[in-house]
Amino acid sequence: MSSLSLADVFRARQRLAGRVAHTPLVESPSLSSLAGVPVYLKLETAQPTGSFKVRGATNALAEIAQSGVRRVVTASTGNHGRALAYAARALGIEAAVCMSSLVPKNKVDAVAALGARILISGRSQDDAQVQALRMAQEEGYAFVAPFDDLRVIAGQATIGLEILEALPDAATLVVPLSGGGLFSGTAFAAKGIRPDLRAIGVSMARGAAMHASLAAGMPIAVEEVETLADSLGGGIGLENRYTFAMTNDLADEILLVDEPSIARGIVHAYRQERLIAEGAAAVGIAALLEWRIAAGHGPIVIVVSGANIDMDAHRRIVMENADA
Ligand SMILES: *Cc1c(COP(=O)(O)O)cnc(C)c1O
Repeated sequence: MSSLSLADVFRARQRLAGRVAHTPLVESPSLSSLAGVPVYLKLETAQPTGSFKVRGATNALAEIAQSGVRRVVTASTGNHGRALAYAARALGIEAAVCMSSLVPKNKVDAVAALGARILISGRSQDDAQVQALRMAQEEGYAFVAPFDDLRVIAGQATIGLEILEALPDAATLVVPLSGGGLFSGTAFAAKGIRPDLRAIGVSMARGAAMHASLAAGMPIAVEEVETLADSLGGGIGLENRYTFAMTNDLADEILLVDEPSIARGIVHAYRQERLIAEGAAAVGIAALLEWRIAAGHGPIVIVVSGANIDMDAHRRIVMENADA
């Protein structure tokens, strides 16, 4: 497979049926009245592992298991590792997850609870990736990349199918963007069905590797720093094969939001939507609250990508932003 087709996405959907959630798409009255057009939230927070990553991991592992592989390894900012561990356990496959010391403890614990082998290496997602690739080479694990893998992208793309089935007249998609598996998959499927749709990627201002790479015209390294949107941390890989080109083709716009804005997104999700959203998942709401999303001609759909925030950190953010 050298590029993705819509048929791959429909096949992924069949594989995922019964294994991952078909998540709710709910209208937000407060964001709708703010934007002047209906605004819907696609709640990947409702997935069994608390993030959309279970879609891509499950699709990749279902394919890998058919070829008789019994051990898989990955590098992760937390959610992909948890998703892979979950999917591996369901298929009776052994999973190892390499993470950096930047990954929050709640996420490491969640991966461990699923029975995966945990390896903490270095201070960046790139360090964790080196470790995972070494294990693939030396210990015979099959490597499943967190985003730059067509099986993973096809799994995430099922979000685009679900959105358009529920809301055929959606006009604008707003999608959190890090390595670009979520964005390129969702936008690929949605634009494949509705080419006139507008797709906006949103990253955090601190260490937005895809944004910097697109500006440079090639994948470049960006220093990884702490951010409320920890699931958006890490590079896109200097040897990026798919998501750089796909994001370049599919993105109508990429927005960056700063830390106070992400905090406002988390607080809005909590107070107005009664939702626990992690920082990475709140960037779309944050961008809308900043009036950065021009209301087009029809409904806006914001992908709320995950719920896996440390609850003490969440409480602090809500307390410190009482008037947000
Ligand atoms: C991984 C992740 C993202 C970004 O996905 P990419 O495919 O790396 O762009 C966004 N939100 C959450 C909650 C994630 O776990």
